[in-house]
Amino acid sequence: MNLFDLKGKAALVTGGNGGIGLGMARALAQAGAKVAIAGRDPGKNAAAAKVLSGEVLTIQADIRKEASCRAMVDEAAEKLGRLDILVNNAGINIRKQPQEYALEEWREVLDTNLTSAFVASQAAYLHMKHAGGGKIVNIGSMMSIFGAAFVAPYGASKGGIVQLTRALACAWARDRIQVNAVLPGWIDTALTQRARQDVAGLHERVLARTPAGRWGEPEDLAGVAVFLSSRASDFVTGTAIPVDGGYSVAG
Ligand code: NDP
Repeated sequence: MNLFDLKGKAALVTGGNGGIGLGMARALAQAGAKVAIAGRDPGKNAAAAKVLSGEVLTIQADIRKEASCRAMVDEAAEKLGRLDILVNNAGINIRKQPQEYALEEWREVLDTNLTSAFVASQAAYLHMKHAGGGKIVNIGSMMSIFGAAFVAPYGASKGGIVQLTRALACAWARDRIQVNAVLPGWIDTALTQRARQDVAGLHERVLARTPAGRWGEPEDLAGVAVFLSSRASDFVTGTAIPVDGGYSVAG
């Protein structure tokens, strides 16, 4: 018996059309799961579906909108026939000094990164309970642990993701639903390519501070995604696992 085998399972990855989400969606598909990816941009959804192997469902959704977020989960469950795995990955950042944010910008980041994870998990709960269990994987950040001058709403959302993970883990453990978080280090994606443009010296600082001596790639999240989505993690719940080349433990 393969502990990591996901054959017969169905997974939804929000923000699965690029970056870390696409890396994790690919890993889940390679482990045998039927996968749905969701994002706002139909062009990116279609391009991502081409690079994924196996059966892939694309869903156009804006997770900031409650109705769209709930409909995304229900569509995945209906079209894949079940829903065993939800990866709350979609996220954005707006980088400014705290005193410069408009309240709408704060809300945009919190709604996208945190509230959507709560809404999607709520919607997934009924499907997972019906299926006899499930796996929810929430994507945090180094900003779940550390502070930085230019991430007030992002850091609040990612700290919140860890506490949301713990609360859901406690609430749903008896339903055999495990809820865990992954805290990626600095991963080379569209999000951080923009950060490197916005923040002078960021690229070099990340290289110097990361014990592994490199930026991460979306594929570096493949193993943890499969582990937390599979039977191998059935007694693991409420944790937040850094995948960061040692960034969070370096003195
Ligand atoms: P990308 O910008 O490459 O991807 C973000 C994804 O989220 C896209 O697929 C985008 O699709 C989707 N998305 C954004 N807003 C919405 C929305 N309102 N509704 C639906 N989908 C949305 O970022 P990353 O891959 O780097 O980041 C993925 C996650 O990992 C985020 O939560 C991020 O905070 C986290 N993270 C990233 C790190 C890194 O170094 N890259 C480090 C730590 C955490 P579309 O545009 O089509 O809507």
